[in-house]
Amino acid sequence: MICYPEDVNEAEALALYDYWLLSDETSTGFLYTVKQLDQRYKPEGARPINSLTQKASFLPRIPVFFCQSCKVKLPVKSRKRYNERIRGNSDLLCSNCYKSKEKEVSDNAKRILYEFKNRKFKAVDYLSGLDFLELMALLAISSGKEPGSLLSQSRNELIVTGAHSVDQKILSSLENKGALVVIDELPPEVQCACEDLYGDYDRVTYYSRDQKGVRSTRSDSFHKGVYLNPLVMESTTEVYSISSILYQKIQSSAVSFDEMSTIHQMIKNIQMDKLYKLVCFIEKEFRLKVDQSNVLSALLSHLAENYSPNNIFFTFFNRAQKAVMYIHKERIPEYISRHCFSKFVGDYIQYVEDNDYKLSKTRSLPPEIQSSPFEALFSQLYLNGHFDWNRLSAKEVVALSMESIPLREDVQALLIEGDGE
Ligand SMILES: [Zn+2]
Repeated sequence: MICYPEDVNEAEALALYDYWLLSDETSTGFLYTVKQLDQRYKPEGARPINSLTQKASFLPRIPVFFCQSCKVKLPVKSRKRYNERIRGNSDLLCSNCYKSKEKEVSDNAKRILYEFKNRKFKAVDYLSGLDFLELMALLAISSGKEPGSLLSQSRNELIVTGAHSVDQKILSSLENKGALVVIDELPPEVQCACEDLYGDYDRVTYYSRDQKGVRSTRSDSFHKGVYLNPLVMESTTEVYSISSILYQKIQSSAVSFDEMSTIHQMIKNIQMDKLYKLVCFIEKEFRLKVDQSNVLSALLSHLAENYSPNNIFFTFFNRAQKAVMYIHKERIPEYISRHCFSKFVGDYIQYVEDNDYKLSKTRSLPPEIQSSPFEALFSQLYLNGHFDWNRLSAKEVVALSMESIPLREDVQALLIEGDGE
């Protein structure tokens, strides 16, 4: 069925009729080309066929030209649209039905997300279960963030101290105690709901797919990742920010002996991690393979405890130059040369210590080795003025912080006893 505009003359009506004549014989599927139609009907007073088709429409009696929901007619105006409709194997909806379907899909998706979030995020009073280091770590990673905020896309990317194994242990513990919610994988129905709300509707071709709907931006979407769980506190109904509560709690907690030695270990791990990164830097810079041996790890442990990363970096650089020269000159084979760096550094440190010398020269760390959030927070709380751990050995960081970390009475007693001996 062709719907003709009111103002057509006879030639134009015939032109439109011929325009929609189908044929199995031609490659286009239509009996006449546009050019043929214009050549024939223009001399008889018809306007160009392309402008006529804009005012007319074509409605074959087949299902794809009717809304599958309300059966309203969905005619087409051009051969291109006709072909698309015939070839498309999708269900078609009129724009009204599309809108209500879209609303239904979006309401359903919102409900699924709402229920999922309610299931995952259950506000609990997790603060009382956290020890000193966990409080510190939580403040370091969540500073200024609202409850329910995404802290990181994955547990592996979330940096607390920068030392990977230490971080993973703390994060697991914070998760187990309810402070963090880790969503490793979105359940399929939640993923679908996110796509329905924020993704494109590629999977379903609707009638009005050409009308670009306004979609929420991706940033509203729900991702897998690590989230800060909401907190409830029994003692008060007032709303504080989690950061300020953590801050107060840390400042008022006294540290036990075990915690103090864990803090020491953590500081050392942070410093040692920097030294490992420096070794990687040296490997790239000097194209020097360094074997990750027990010798190296024992050496770095000793260095982290007793020297500042800035001093060590200078020594690394200097010794690497010497090692490379030696390897080239003596044509040392690879299976030996990869132990050279550790040996050169180790021997030099031994020489320095045997003679009671000091490492006085420093080299600034490459910019890619940044302070971790934990380090920054710890310095801010306990190391007035010594913000930069790169200038301190682990031992010095611990000694300086002991002056301002509130210690539990038993630790103080122990220290006084120790002094008296
Ligand atoms: Zn409809």
